[in-house]
Amino acid sequence: MGWPATRTSREHSDRPLPGFKLAYPMLSADGTAAGFSGVTLGRAHVYRAVDDAICVHGSRHACPSRWCDCGFYCFHLLSAARDLACEPEYRGAVLLEVAVSGRYRRYERGLRYARQRVCVVRIGRCECARPAQVLADSGAGSVGWRRLVPVCAACAGIRPVLGPEVFGRLAGGITVTTDDAAAGPVAPLPAPAVPEAAGAVAVLSAEVALLQARLDDVQTRLDELTRRDEG
Ligand SMILES: [Zn+2]
Ligand SMILES: [Zn+2]
Repeated sequence: MGWPATRTSREHSDRPLPGFKLAYPMLSADGTAAGFSGVTLGRAHVYRAVDDAICVHGSRHACPSRWCDCGFYCFHLLSAARDLACEPEYRGAVLLEVAVSGRYRRYERGLRYARQRVCVVRIGRCECARPAQVLADSGAGSVGWRRLVPVCAACAGIRPVLGPEVFGRLAGGITVTTDDAAAGPVAPLPAPAVPEAAGAVAVLSAEVALLQARLDDVQTRLDELTRRDEG
């Protein structure tokens, strides 16, 4: 996927470079630490807010290597990460703003690099398309880590959830916000209009009145028959 290589010049930066990427939010089995896992390569590996890349293929070379596709990845543009988040398989991911440092290789749309600090986590949409507000257990995970998924309050229901600020604290003091731009102008359907409900009540009232009139009519006839028999 993504990031086709047009230039593979190896570079190094002492000054952090900004980048944007998608990741799955992860919670440790004992619930005391939060981290992230990759959405493509290295899904089984969990990295922390500040971490060094390791070769996900098990090699012991330094990342990023020219001969391997391992290392952290990011886009130059926030919009590129948002675009990727539209793909169904990445709907459960969150958007990370990162600071890249150390060795890196440049690509057409971003960087592949050795060291990263996660600065901000942005939570986008719930699966139901409402803006997500909290993180719930997705049911997926890897050894020692549960994968969380952004959900809205309605879809969270009675499930236990983690608030954005708690996740940020467990991850080591990261700002976690809702990504309003990614959520977009999503409005819930309007509630049934009041006149419609009033109309339904009016129809029911009319039917009840009609039934009452028929009962009265039957009662009158019965009375007449009873009087005739008595007479
Ligand atoms: Zn490698
Ligand atoms: Zn929802």
